[in-house]
Amino acid sequence: MSTAIVWLRQDLRLADNPALAFACEHFEQVIPVYIWDPDGEGDWPPGGASRWWLHHSLEALDKSLRKRHSRLIIRNGDSQTELAELIKTSQADAVCWNRRYEPAVRQRDAAIKTWLQDELKLICRSFNSALWWEPWEIKTGQGDPYRVFTPMWKKMLAEWRYPQVPAIPQPFPAMQEAPRSVPLDKLALLPRLDWDQQFYQHWSPGEQGAWDALDVFRDRAINDYLDNRNLPAQPDTSRLSPHLHFGEISTRQIVRQLCPDGEPPVDQQVSGFIRELAWREFSWHLLYNYPRIPAQPLQEKFSDFPWRDGRTREYQHDLRAWQQGMTGIPMVDAGMRELWATGWMHNRVRMIVASFLTKNLLIPWQAGEQWFWDTLVDADLGNNSQGWQWTAGSGADAAPYFRIFNPVSQGEKFDPEGEYVRHWIPELAELKGKRIHSPWQIEQSLLQELGIELGETYPWPVVDLKASRERALNAYQQIR
Ligand SMILES: Cc1cc2nc3c(=O)[nH]c(=O)nc-3n(C[C@H](O)[C@H](O)[C@H](O)COP(=O)(O)OP(=O)(O)OC[C@H]3O[C@@H](n4cnc5c(N)ncnc54)[C@H](O)[C@@H]3O)c2cc1C
Repeated sequence: MSTAIVWLRQDLRLADNPALAFACEHFEQVIPVYIWDPDGEGDWPPGGASRWWLHHSLEALDKSLRKRHSRLIIRNGDSQTELAELIKTSQADAVCWNRRYEPAVRQRDAAIKTWLQDELKLICRSFNSALWWEPWEIKTGQGDPYRVFTPMWKKMLAEWRYPQVPAIPQPFPAMQEAPRSVPLDKLALLPRLDWDQQFYQHWSPGEQGAWDALDVFRDRAINDYLDNRNLPAQPDTSRLSPHLHFGEISTRQIVRQLCPDGEPPVDQQVSGFIRELAWREFSWHLLYNYPRIPAQPLQEKFSDFPWRDGRTREYQHDLRAWQQGMTGIPMVDAGMRELWATGWMHNRVRMIVASFLTKNLLIPWQAGEQWFWDTLVDADLGNNSQGWQWTAGSGADAAPYFRIFNPVSQGEKFDPEGEYVRHWIPELAELKGKRIHSPWQIEQSLLQELGIELGETYPWPVVDLKASRERALNAYQQIR
């Protein structure tokens, strides 16, 4: 009986899964396997919040497979060793997977492909399932990778590609004899402290959860996307990011859903949303073409940037205050608390907290990137490194360094009634309107009346916004 192993990774879905579709079409027996191999991910093994998501996503995938008389085989250990053992016990003829683009994973996968083809003489096929355009497919007129988003987006529109997506294989080839599988709990992906309690109210990991999220977004928010996408108090973005990261749904599927006639969207709101998906493509193209960007600034001059000394107590204090949502700047603290409680933060607020860390606190973007990596359910090497470098000013197409977000005016503009802050900072909930964004400017008697005592019930700001802005601009002068 011809047998294929489908090595599932960040493609935890049955529909539009080219590796699975290929295996089901060409082989009599198909073994879907997930290998938990954090050491194979180089410097970026999944963080705590991602592990929570992964646990539930694997559970959901296994359920879907069981409905089709199959199941997910789970292994724990070095990918090549586990594949070798699986190939031996199942006498597999082929191994198929969908490509990943993280630098360490690419290296590992290339070595495994060579071993499978050259040493074991097996069929080995890899496919694109994560991106709309492969990172090598879209180039500037000079044949270089794009470093600026807008021209890349224009090119994507000009050379519009209506994606083809394979359906869920029917019938699904069963396994004659299922190979050994490790119980999911043995991977110990769930946190030991019950930090994840609120996650359950906010998220439904898995393929069905992804489609439900898309449906809700289409029904409720897409028609006003451009007007509302910057308002963190309103749940009007799609919240598809963790589903996209784990491959429970793909950009290609979303584009097909939103553009049923196969043409580029005419509707401005739909086009605006697809443009954001193209930012994701842009991030991954950058990561593929500049694999150093998770650790090193893309613009080399930033290598000499005079960040604060990370060994000092003051630096550690300020970093901790930022992580814990205790900086005394309400818009920053609200975002950091939303992140801790839900594993996600609104895009506008990500930019505000990242600007505050790298500019007002002069703490290197890598420290923020690392914290996000551990606490975001959508932690994603392409988007996270691009987002941090963009905000810090060191990336491709970045916000100029001197454009320093003022968290108070950002709050007044994008959270004008203070609803978002009030939700995440109950200590300040009695403050009405936009004054909530700068409690240190409110007269003492009013604060007292409302039971707010700065330094006791809520912190004083860890830095003066004006002085720290000047300090950041002076630091930038040193590398210009
Ligand atoms: C400092 C910083 C760090 C970030 N880290 C991550 C990360 O680790 N993982 C992650 O998925 N996104 C990251 N982003 C991008 C963005 O904040 C999230 O993708 C977005 O908030 C997810 O919410 P949503 O799905 O409701 O977005 P929507 O507005 O509904 O957008 C739809 C999809 O488009 C993509 N997208 C939207 N905005 C961006 C963007 N600016 N860059 C790249 N792709 C985008 C995402 O896949 C998103 O799910 C980061 C942004 C910043 C400023």
